[in-house]
Amino acid sequence: MSTPTVMKFDEALVRFEPVLGLETHIELGTASKMFCGCPTEFGAEPNTQVCPVCLGLPGSLPVANRAAIEGIIKIGLALNCEIVEWCRFARKNYFYPDMPKNYQISQYDEPLCVDGHLEVEVDGEVFRVEIERVHMEEDTGKSLHVGGATGRIHGADHSLVDYNRAGIPLVEIVTKPITATGDKAPLVARAYVTELRELVRSLGVSDVRMEQGSLRCDVNVSLMPRGASEWGTRTETKNVNSLRSVERAVRSEIERQAAVLDGGGKIVQETRHFHEDTGTTTSGRSKEEAQDYRYFPEPDLVPMAPSREWVEELRATLPELPAARRRRVQGEWGLSDLELRDVVNAGALDLIEETVAAGADAGAARKWWMNELSRRATEKGVELAELPIEPAQVARVQEMVAARELNDKLARQVFEGVLAGEGGPDEVVAARGLRIVSDEGALTAIVDRVIADNAAVADKVRGGKVAAAGALVGAVMKASRGQADAGRARELILERLGVS
Ligand SMILES: [Zn+2]
Repeated sequence: MSTPTVMKFDEALVRFEPVLGLETHIELGTASKMFCGCPTEFGAEPNTQVCPVCLGLPGSLPVANRAAIEGIIKIGLALNCEIVEWCRFARKNYFYPDMPKNYQISQYDEPLCVDGHLEVEVDGEVFRVEIERVHMEEDTGKSLHVGGATGRIHGADHSLVDYNRAGIPLVEIVTKPITATGDKAPLVARAYVTELRELVRSLGVSDVRMEQGSLRCDVNVSLMPRGASEWGTRTETKNVNSLRSVERAVRSEIERQAAVLDGGGKIVQETRHFHEDTGTTTSGRSKEEAQDYRYFPEPDLVPMAPSREWVEELRATLPELPAARRRRVQGEWGLSDLELRDVVNAGALDLIEETVAAGADAGAARKWWMNELSRRATEKGVELAELPIEPAQVARVQEMVAARELNDKLARQVFEGVLAGEGGPDEVVAARGLRIVSDEGALTAIVDRVIADNAAVADKVRGGKVAAAGALVGAVMKASRGQADAGRARELILERLGVS
């Protein structure tokens, strides 16, 4: 393989305009498969969730799964699509070992949902991604290549095939060409997949886990010289399996294609593989044209004709969608656009909302998650949601702060204890003896001692330099090993010095 030549991203963007297209496959979380009654549980022993229908044995007949059709209609509605009144399944014919029927039941020229859109935001700029179609199909099985270093077929000793996944309901969401994104193209692609994942998750129809393959993305990229009116030839990078990889795959293809075009070469229409380790793509197979699949209407299934009443019933079940939810909490919590974006990017929206639901005020909940707990998540190299602390526990700590049983410093020690597995907030407070000194007599004694020990500072305060009291408060906090209520200590100091 020759060393791929690339043009620097910034230079490529000066010369060329990227055009993107994203095809996203989402496995629905139905209990049974698309056309048979087999279970769909992830991670079962290979070939234990199969039957004559999903193995394509002669004489077996498929029956469409109503729950799956409901799921795709909900996705279509959430994406602002039109749900057509009548459409059919189609056979997509091709041979591949992980597809036991030698054809996939899909939809071709008659998709169920058409003409939608999804708005995504990058650095405060809104991009409207047009959705061409959302159609229903079935997943293939899985090949496992054994003996090679990369898990790919090249270099493998032999291959095994697992048909448990064959026939699981799969929804394919295809965008129209996404243009005019300029140097934001990689970020727009990532933001789109992120938003789509949030949207589908909110509908409860799939767990949309990229690492388990229940959301998979194919990334189409082409370049056209600036000022040109015709689009270039596109490549399709298959099964990019993380959000970061979506961004990197777009960037890498822009850099590679720009270099090819700059050198007078032509872009070949092909599929490409993305490599996590290098962040680059390599050539796969030449891309089939639709005619290669010999599509024809599926003769074993009746057409789908969802009644308008049913569609409206499903529309009425849609939950609050992520974009509307973000606008709502932004208003309720009084956040600026930038603050909201930080919360979303930190993955803290759900956590803060649950903490508020458990009784904390929004400002305090946001403060703990975005500062102290974010810092600890970064230290541990985990996502915020992976920290071993529940929103209700954060709310409990804040309740104690509000009741002046803890100050912020002690609260941080409580978080430390909870994260270290020492138990819930109350247990940590009890075990570590972290209550604030609320005994007025004990606090007054500390204050008097501090005033005596710092006579010069005390005199300044008496003389009207109230700001100097801060040093005395600090001394009280130190003397109480952080367990005094700083606000009350300050009041007592000023009272004792006759300036309150
Ligand atoms: Zn089956």
